[in-house]
Amino acid sequence: MKLCRLSVIALCLLLSACFAPERETGWAVGYGRSYAAPLSVTMPENAYAITQQFRRAELYSGGSEVTDHFGIDVHAPLGTPVLAVASGRVIASHWEPGYGHRIEVDHGTDGNGHSAQTNYVHLRKRLVRVGDQVKQGQQIATLGATGLTAGGFPHLHFEVLYKGTKLRTHAADPNLFWAKGIGRVTCFAKRHVWRPAQAFKITYPVACVNE
Ligand SMILES: [Zn+2]
Repeated sequence: MKLCRLSVIALCLLLSACFAPERETGWAVGYGRSYAAPLSVTMPENAYAITQQFRRAELYSGGSEVTDHFGIDVHAPLGTPVLAVASGRVIASHWEPGYGHRIEVDHGTDGNGHSAQTNYVHLRKRLVRVGDQVKQGQQIATLGATGLTAGGFPHLHFEVLYKGTKLRTHAADPNLFWAKGIGRVTCFAKRHVWRPAQAFKITYPVACVNE
């Protein structure tokens, strides 16, 4: 009897997993099947999903299948506006085979004396040039699937380089820098003014739905 009830519960769980509607927004995946999440991430309901989180292979023992992923992947429809996450100056805007259309923004040095840069790749269309000053929330590109490493999957690969991190490349988990706090993904909204803070702070690189 008990076994029967358990199997009914198992079946219900299985069915709900199969028929649960796929949520396109307000959702963040884990750091991989068996990877322990370095920090918990909460998403606004109207934010497009993060389909792959920042990952440093050296933190995981055993299993050579674990690879570095020095940024986050944001999945949204082709052509979705890509926004500058903080104010700064465009230092690269070009096409390259691996990452396709690429933009890099230099955000200068924060109150802690650390320099910050953000990179946006696999873009469909670039809307800014080297030397342009951009404001936080300004559209700089549209989301695409360009470059061999995009694998034909429309997404934005977004990186934060923050000098002061131990990593040689200075790549840092973008989830550490959200304007509302660590792990609290922050959509850009025109009604909010994110004042330059002591520490480098960013908003989500893709416009959230209805913002
Ligand atoms: Zn990626």
